[in-house]
Amino acid sequence: MAGLLEEYEKIVGPDVIDQLRQLATLLKGRKIVHVNSTREGGGVAEILHRLIPLHFELGLDVRWDVITGNREFYQCTKLMHNALQGARVDIPLSLLRNYEEAAQKNFEGLQEHLQGADLVFIHDPQPAALIRSCPERCGKWIWRCHIDVSHPYRPVWQYLRRYVRQYDASIWSLSEFAQPLPHPLFLIAPSIDPLSEKNSDVPLRELEKIYERYHLDPVRPIITQISRFDRFKDPIGVIQSYKLVKEFLPIQLVLAGGGATDDPEGEEVLIKVRSASDNDPDIHVLLLPPDDHLTINALQRISDIVLQKSTREGFGLTVTEAMWKGKPVIGGDTGGIRLQVINHHTGFLVNTPEGAALRIRYLLKRREKLHEIGEKAHQFVLENFLITRHLREYLTLMVAIMYETEDRIEPQ
Ligand code: UDP
Repeated sequence: MAGLLEEYEKIVGPDVIDQLRQLATLLKGRKIVHVNSTREGGGVAEILHRLIPLHFELGLDVRWDVITGNREFYQCTKLMHNALQGARVDIPLSLLRNYEEAAQKNFEGLQEHLQGADLVFIHDPQPAALIRSCPERCGKWIWRCHIDVSHPYRPVWQYLRRYVRQYDASIWSLSEFAQPLPHPLFLIAPSIDPLSEKNSDVPLRELEKIYERYHLDPVRPIITQISRFDRFKDPIGVIQSYKLVKEFLPIQLVLAGGGATDDPEGEEVLIKVRSASDNDPDIHVLLLPPDDHLTINALQRISDIVLQKSTREGFGLTVTEAMWKGKPVIGGDTGGIRLQVINHHTGFLVNTPEGAALRIRYLLKRREKLHEIGEKAHQFVLENFLITRHLREYLTLMVAIMYETEDRIEPQ
């Protein structure tokens, strides 16, 4: 990892890196712990995989722990996830008791790290109840919410709130998501890492291999959505848009996804996707292993347009990834997609399959517009959604929380 900061410097400039170094000196010797519920699959794992090594590079003492649970635990947390994103689902009491027991068991395994930590970041609802098991904590605990809780199903939010309110602070991706709580609330947007295998340049021969491997025609336009098979990502809506465009233009659709270990609903959604595809040879449903970053990267690069037709979206790293690669994104007009896709400038926001189809046809017919939007999208990510900005905000937050009452902050 030697020289990693210098590599970022080439992209974002020396001032940004200097600032990270200065902030890090104020946190030297502090123990920082991040906890989430999966090491692979989904945006949170993606971010932590990149953010943690960068902490090390700055000389910080950080660790990343992952909680585990039985089948009922993930059933419960998926219901919770759906309810917090607005679905009216009541969670059976037995599943909630199991969720609480899992928190206690996980705490026992992690106690040594959590109790002595200065700063603990707990990501999303799955590990939120850990705080209940640690009344004697000495550090500050921060709950980091990555999902779209702009319109949560109230009974489920009220249940989770009992835990969340015990935290010293919480972090949200958008102001619309923030809920009333008796502690400071911070807004931090997620980010991508331009140096990761998912986002760095891909040699032409690797791109060519992708056409061959997945039987894609390099001549006809390719429209892609990369996502876990999750109902809020609306893969069926994507297929409907494709069918509407296909009547006029010879496009190909790639729906690439995989599972996350903490998401038990993927299988069910995948069955619906396959059935909606009607064995159309131009719909390519790809199930990829969670660590196949190069393939995702290449698929995004060979696409003419990237879709993210979500109906709820915490942020949508797939949007950022595609924009970084200079692709116009047609995204659902919701949550974190709105933060990234500035309608008609860095992409298009849509509410229906018909809307998405209209925009696909528009962009494929006006190639100069497609390239112009793609360039603006890349620039927008460079200025707003790279990991260096994300880390700076985390470091600033940690400094603010650690030194909250001090007038003057001195390096340790
Ligand atoms: N991803 C992946 N393989 C897949 C599907 C998604 O590596 O089959 C990655 C995708 O590239 C992105 C992350 O998982 O980096 C998904 O993050 P996003 O915020 O878009 O959605 P989430 O899954 O967290 O709801």
